[in-house]
Amino acid sequence: MAANELRREGGCLCGAIRYTVTGAPLLSAVCHCRHCQRQGGSAFSVVCAVAASQYEQRGETRVFQDRGDSGQAVHRHFCDTCGSPIVSIADVLPDLTIVKAGTFDDPGFIVPTQEAYCRDAWAFVPPFSGTERFSGTNIGESR
Ligand SMILES: [Zn+2]
Repeated sequence: MAANELRREGGCLCGAIRYTVTGAPLLSAVCHCRHCQRQGGSAFSVVCAVAASQYEQRGETRVFQDRGDSGQAVHRHFCDTCGSPIVSIADVLPDLTIVKAGTFDDPGFIVPTQEAYCRDAWAFVPPFSGTERFSGTNIGESR
């Protein structure tokens, strides 16, 4: 990474977990899946996918081992003190760190370009403008 590359900071609600993302995210997306709904307690999650090498974390997250469509593990990292979801890492894409975008200190830069798991989207949530909509997963499967 170049020394002058953009660095974005984020962290959990209580501040026990802090992280830095270096460089531009590879992808910003909305995920309507039931797992994101349960973990976040809301209608959908907004996530930024970054290369594992772009993500640096201070503080130790607790990990819930979830399971994705593929049957392989999805490691959902969250703060053990305040419960904020921080990142998810799927065994099918171990080099990708999926950051829960609401944890950035300044999330205003995020413009989602894709919506995943639209089949689970709530009826009152309209399609976002400028997104490509997927019935199921938008990453990690051949297309
Ligand atoms: Zn916390």
